[in-house]
Amino acid sequence: MMIPNADCLVFMDVETTGLDAQQERIIEVFLLKIARSGHVSEYETLIHPERPIPAVITEITGITDQDVAEAPTEAEVAHEIREFIGSGIPVAHNLPFDRRFFNAMFARNNQVQLSAAGIDTLALSRQLFPRLCIYPEGGGSHRLSNLMYHFGLQNAFANSHRARDDVMLLVEVYRHLQDYASGRMGITYPSAVTHGCPTCGAAMKMEFYEGERVLVCTKQPACSERLVV
Ligand SMILES: [Zn+2]
Repeated sequence: MMIPNADCLVFMDVETTGLDAQQERIIEVFLLKIARSGHVSEYETLIHPERPIPAVITEITGITDQDVAEAPTEAEVAHEIREFIGSGIPVAHNLPFDRRFFNAMFARNNQVQLSAAGIDTLALSRQLFPRLCIYPEGGGSHRLSNLMYHFGLQNAFANSHRARDDVMLLVEVYRHLQDYASGRMGITYPSAVTHGCPTCGAAMKMEFYEGERVLVCTKQPACSERLVV
């Protein structure tokens, strides 16, 4: 795994009560720190959001009000979270989202903000695979779940929308993106898999018919492109 010019990478994921980093709160954090030396450490906590968890969030994450009833509040853990991240380089899928939530929490609790430095696997995926085909349970070209299927990680990992599982998947996805970018993976993908429909440029959908992998244009019926890959 390529480690940029920093002592360590901190792979991170948060679950939250919603999308707005100012209005909503973090309910779960998982951090995995991988030092240049190879030393690995982790930090994990649920956080009491001091408000009810919306039903839609419980549906996505499985985290209930009862699960966080005994959890510390952000005031009790913001300091140790900031200390754990330290000067490590943050890595996340859609890093700006996680960073906004961390920085809003750090601002409320007198902790130093995270810098703009970091590695966003969503941005990496967009660069490497501009119109990545969408796998049956993938959800969308650049979703972490779609990258899981693209790299064939679905038997060992899960995109469960729980912070620990998603970070474990994130580390593997990051490793695969790096290996692909550096040529170490030694494989190339058909252009329609990574760059979309040869006719209209839209992303393709991967479908499976009797053991065959078929790419179908997402713009069907306007575009009828179909390719066996
Ligand atoms: Zn098309």
